[in-house]
Order: sequence, then structure tokens, then C-alpha cells
Amino acid sequence: MRKIVWQKNGGAAEERLVLKANLHTHTTNSDGIFTPAQIIDMYKDAGYDVINFSDHRKVNKVSEYDGRGMTLISGVELHPMGPRGINWHILAIGVPENFANTNPETGQEAVDSVVNVGGIAFCAHPYWCGLLPSEVMQLKNIAGIEVFNSSCRYIGKELNMYAWDICLDAGREYTALAVDDIHNIRDFCGGWTMICAKSNSYEDIIAALKNGDFYATQGPEFTKLVVNNGVLEAEFTSCQYAVISGRKAKGRAIWVNEFVKDGEFEETTGFKIDLNECPKGLLRIQLCDSQGRYCWSNPICNE
Ligand SMILES: [Zn+2]
Ligand SMILES: [Zn+2]
Repeated sequence: MRKIVWQKNGGAAEERLVLKANLHTHTTNSDGIFTPAQIIDMYKDAGYDVINFSDHRKVNKVSEYDGRGMTLISGVELHPMGPRGINWHILAIGVPENFANTNPETGQEAVDSVVNVGGIAFCAHPYWCGLLPSEVMQLKNIAGIEVFNSSCRYIGKELNMYAWDICLDAGREYTALAVDDIHNIRDFCGGWTMICAKSNSYEDIIAALKNGDFYATQGPEFTKLVVNNGVLEAEFTSCQYAVISGRKAKGRAIWVNEFVKDGEFEETTGFKIDLNECPKGLLRIQLCDSQGRYCWSNPICNE
């Protein structure tokens, strides 16, 4: 199993498991074309460790499924009416199988009902929905947004960095998921979330998600992500470049490594930088590999 050296400012450095997760999943219980058993086989065979089932307005009874060693989570996608006649798509992770509030009237009611039963709520694919960052920020108690959603590729709206950054600049410490939102085979394995957990138990996975101990990726992987004594250190699989972006100072972002040589990128696998050298605000690291695939850290507070 993959491991990562993980440390947040003030915490101790720990070796954590890295669990590959698809946290937004549709099945034949709503409008997906695959049965839950097919979904389990597909993701198990692709090396995943965690699946959150999130059919539209319907909770899967995952305790009745054979997860083939993966940790299965019961979730749901909720669609209350939102601003300007646009329905919210609220991705819920970790609700009880008998969760009853599958048709909430408002976005806030949806989020509150999920959080009140111990779950986690994210604003799914805001770009696809046509939601403004200011509208996303009206929801209280969401854990964050989807920064990447595979199923939105086919209308060219899979990336949500713009909305995320506006929210971060406004001081919202939103975490970000990459998900397949699988309905069809074309959505399979486009982006996933790497959960840095103490174990693969349900409780440790939910705790890691609530604590922001994860990152989102389309391919590149962090092997070390440490913030300690004002120093940010990252190690990762070979990438073309790494950017630290944030608010205010130094033109907002740092291109970490000037690796262009003779018009070619020189691959990089890590950096160590004083946070005083970094932009202020809620920082995030963005990696990009030679195939143009992104990887996103969760925000790091640098005020
Ligand atoms: Zn949706
Ligand atoms: Zn969905």
C-alpha cells in the first residue's frame, strides 16, 4: 500500500496510508449504467481502496455489498433548489444507510442534514452547475468543492480552480476533491482523491476527510507533504512543474522550479521552501506532470 509522510503545522510528522478513493459514484440505483457490483469490480481492479456511493437522492445499502477488501461508504447526491433557479448538487459522504432527508428544500438544509448525522458535504462541480463562487460561499458548513469532476469533461467544464481560488481568497478554507462522478465508462478513472489516513477503517477515513488529510489528483502523487516550523516541504512523483498559489504577495503565485531548459521542461520531484517566501493567505500546491495531468494539495494557511 502507498504511504506518505504527512505533517501539518503544529502536528507531528506521521507516516500515513494513502488510500485511493472515488468519492462520487452513480449506479443503476439512479442514472448510472453500472450495478454496484460492477462498480466494485471496476474500481477494485483499478487499484482503488475506497468508494463512496452517491446516487441521486438515494442511499445505497453498502453493508449488503461485498467490497472485495475496499472500504465502502454510503453517501448521496442531493439536489435542492439553489440560486437563480439552479439546483445545487450537494455531494454527501458518510451518511447512514437509512438517511431520510433525500429531498431537502434548500441547500443549507441539505448540508445541515448531512453534517448532523456525521457526514461531510461538498459542493459538487460548481462550473457545470453555473454557480458563482459567491453563491457557493453562501452555504455554511460545507467541507469544500470538487476541483475536478471526470463526468464534466464532456462539456469542457471539469476543472474548478477558479471558483476554488475565489473562495480561498475570501478566507474559506475549502478542501477539494477529484472525482469521477461515474455514470458511464467514459468517466472511469479520470481523477481521484488520495486519503491520507491512519488506517483503512471507515472511522479513520471519515476522520481524515473531515480533517482535510487528503489531496486530489489526475495522476501525480505526493509522497511527502510537510509543514513544520514555517517550512513547506513536498516530494512527489516526477512532474513538469509545481506552483504554490495564494493571495496577495509576490504576484499571487510562485512557480517553484524554473526548470525550463532549451525550451524543454526539466522534471522535478520536490521542493522545500520557507513560508515567508510564499504568497500569503490560503496557499495551495498544484503539480502538473508531462502528460498535463494535475494534482492539487488542500489549502495551507499562511497568514
Ligand atoms: Zn451532480
Ligand atoms: Zn453526480
